[in-house]
Amino acid sequence: MEKNTGYFGKFGGAFVPEILKVVLKVVEEEFYKCILDEEFLKELAYYQKQYVGRENPLYYAEKLSEKLGGAKIYLKREDLNHTGSHKINNAIGQALLAKKMGKNRIIAETGAGQHGVATATVCALFGMDCTIYMGEVDTKRQALNVFRMELLGAKVVTVTTGTATLKDAVDVALNDFVENEKDTYYLLGSAVGPHPYPTMVREFQSIIGIEARRQIIQAEGRLPDYLVACVGGGSNAIGLFHPFFNDKDVKMIGVEPAGKGLDTQEHAASLTKGSVGIIHGFKCYNIQDEKGEPLPVYSVAAGLDYPGVGPEHCYYKDTGRAKYVSVTDKESITALLELSRVEGIIPAIESAHAIAYGINLAASLTKDKVIIINLSGRGDKDAAHVKEMLEEGILA
Ligand SMILES: *Cc1c(COP(=O)(O)O)cnc(C)c1O
Repeated sequence: MEKNTGYFGKFGGAFVPEILKVVLKVVEEEFYKCILDEEFLKELAYYQKQYVGRENPLYYAEKLSEKLGGAKIYLKREDLNHTGSHKINNAIGQALLAKKMGKNRIIAETGAGQHGVATATVCALFGMDCTIYMGEVDTKRQALNVFRMELLGAKVVTVTTGTATLKDAVDVALNDFVENEKDTYYLLGSAVGPHPYPTMVREFQSIIGIEARRQIIQAEGRLPDYLVACVGGGSNAIGLFHPFFNDKDVKMIGVEPAGKGLDTQEHAASLTKGSVGIIHGFKCYNIQDEKGEPLPVYSVAAGLDYPGVGPEHCYYKDTGRAKYVSVTDKESITALLELSRVEGIIPAIESAHAIAYGINLAASLTKDKVIIINLSGRGDKDAAHVKEMLEEGILA
């Protein structure tokens, strides 16, 4: 891969205190060293195969495609990874990087808890000390994930400052990183944050698109017409999209959470409804007030509930390389039920946003067209929540 400046057009960068800049510079240098190093890549490939279970299938959803009567739908099965989503791809990559840097203490932030679980998992695997920062509000909402992290040997620290959610957990984690950088590595969970994180996370998630590209050529003898993925911070989407960047005929569609509707305050559609500003040390489209303070965001999918979005997506949007759309809570739950019944696959409620858009897209296209939808995670974690919402009549 080629080194970059940390800017994607005008987006990205590292808007952080000087002392943190120095720490990030070291991470950047070590990352570029590792990502070009045969030994590192061999070790990464070993764990991807033997521990995560890659490569995972690119599954032709024949029943669903035939029912819709339009384009062929293929699902990239990130839900079959160990721990049930794409997040482990990034966690393994960064943990190996930390190991190479001689750091044995890992810290991370988590909102919904999924990234915390992935991080705790790789720390157990590599025998590393693990501290997860989580807002108090989130520890209550995601009590089961807190217990999972503890089972895996991690220490979960409750953050009570500010709004006691993800944003505050990030701030505390960044402070810890600066104070303890000698033995500590901050393992960030999505393609966001200051440089070099968006680039690192994209590289570790690009395995999704690299495999999918090879697999679709094998299955169809050609490239797909469309790629569809849900966008929270943007890591599963950029992981699928990036390896197709130069394939100009492959259209890319990122699906944001429209929550209760784009005309309400309850959504998290940063690219669709946000404005340019700085959040968590980087420039992107985000949901903010006139003073540039992040506003509360909402989605039924806890993993999509982030006020900013990765800088590379902002760049893809402005240059027209990708298109960004949105799907409501209700539409995503309808899609979750449909995929469960028609294909026997319960998707994560995050991934169900991509499924919802993909279903409509496929139905509008002719049978000779091919769509790849990234099935970023499995839905077991959401079953109880979905049951509750159906009983409350969300689809009525
Ligand atoms: C965390 C998560 C997402 C959203 O994160 P991205 O960085 O946008 O990929 C999507 N799907 C699942 C299953 C997740 O756990």
